[in-house]
Parts: sequence; structure tokens; C-alpha cells
Amino acid sequence: MKQWFALLCAAALLWVLCQPRAAYPAAGTIEAPCVALTFDDGPRADTTERLLDGLAARGARATFFVIGQQIPGNEELLLRMAAEGHQVGSHTYSHVRLQGAAESTVIEEIAKTEVLLTELLGEGDYWLRPPYGLVDDQTYRLAETPMIYWSLDPEDWKVLDTAKVVERILGEVEDGDIILLHDFYPTSVEAALQVVDALQGKGYQFLTVAELFDRFGTDPQPGVLYADATHPRGW
Ligand SMILES: [Zn+2]
Repeated sequence: MKQWFALLCAAALLWVLCQPRAAYPAAGTIEAPCVALTFDDGPRADTTERLLDGLAARGARATFFVIGQQIPGNEELLLRMAAEGHQVGSHTYSHVRLQGAAESTVIEEIAKTEVLLTELLGEGDYWLRPPYGLVDDQTYRLAETPMIYWSLDPEDWKVLDTAKVVERILGEVEDGDIILLHDFYPTSVEAALQVVDALQGKGYQFLTVAELFDRFGTDPQPGVLYADATHPRGW
């Protein structure tokens, strides 16, 4: 009887071992696609608050490139961004075009915002998004932080239409994208939240730009303008 039992066990083991393996990779090897939503030209009291509420409800993180002169009066929003895991960067103090600007202007525009951010949020590396994405050799030389361009621009500020912005992003998005938006416009905020809903449904994760770089193994360097998670602009 014991022999029959041992034989049965061996047969069962053989049957289990011979089953085709599931086609899934081992746990831990699946990387969800991920993107970074970036918001320029804020903070703006009503729209930025609505966006922060929406991102919090969805467990999505983003990056805010703020205009320095809009920080006074909106300190609570900045503190909230940092507390809720978003990345905060600079979009200069008064949204000047750095390309072709005097050296003193570039230094002042970057430094004034950095001082405000440091006073409010503490010492940190506040990355720069140059207004209009425009830089020149002098900007590369003077920027002491990584600079962030984008790989997907739905021109939200121009179309001011939630459905069109959503359609453009969903039609073009790829893993590792840095998406340009502006939390200054209600239509853009609504579009961003709809995009989060749609892409989370497809398994996408929403990370800060720093987290996105980390995920792709990119070590961001000061004075380099990055277009996506792995490539500098113009690559
Ligand atoms: Zn801007």
C-alpha cells in the first residue's frame, strides 16, 4: 500500500512539473510604464489647489516649476506640494526668456526664486525649467542644477480645451515621457486629472521627474537640459 502511495505521489509530482509554465516573468521584473506630469506658470490659488486635491485623490505625483514672484501669498500651496511628495522646481522669478538675456539677469532670476524656495521648503536642489524652453550657451554655463525640457507638449495653453489636451496626450504618450502642462488654466488641470484616470487604468504610474530619472537609471547633471527620462534635449 505504501508503495502505491509513493508511486501516486511521484506521478502527481511529475504531472505538476510537466505543466506548461505561466507566461509571466518572475515577480519583481515587471516595470509599470511611468511618466512625469510637469506644471509650469503656477502657483495659482484656485487652479493649483484643485489640481493638488485631484492628484492626492488619485495617488499621483507631479512636478511643479513655479514662478518666483507668485510664491508670496501662495506659501500654503508650496508647503502642500512638498508634503504630498511632489517635486518643486523653478521657472525663474518673473518668467523671463533666459536665451539672450544679460548674465546678471539670468543669475538674479534663478537666485531670487531659489532663495524663496529655500526659505519656505528648506535646502534643496531646485531644478530649472527655462521659460519657453529657451536656453543658450550662457544658460548652460550658469545653471547650477539640471534643466528640464519635455517630450510631450499638448499645447494646453494654446488650445484651452480639456478634451483636445486629453486626446493629444493619450494619443502620443510613451513610457518615460515628461509631459508639459500649466496649472494656471482650469482646462489644463481638468485634462491632467482625466489623463491620470485613463493612464492609471492602463497601469501607468505618475512620478516626479527626479523619480522618473531614478527609475530609468539617469543621473541628472547640472547645466544639462533633459527632454525625457534618458535623453538631453537635441539628442
Ligand atoms: Zn512658462
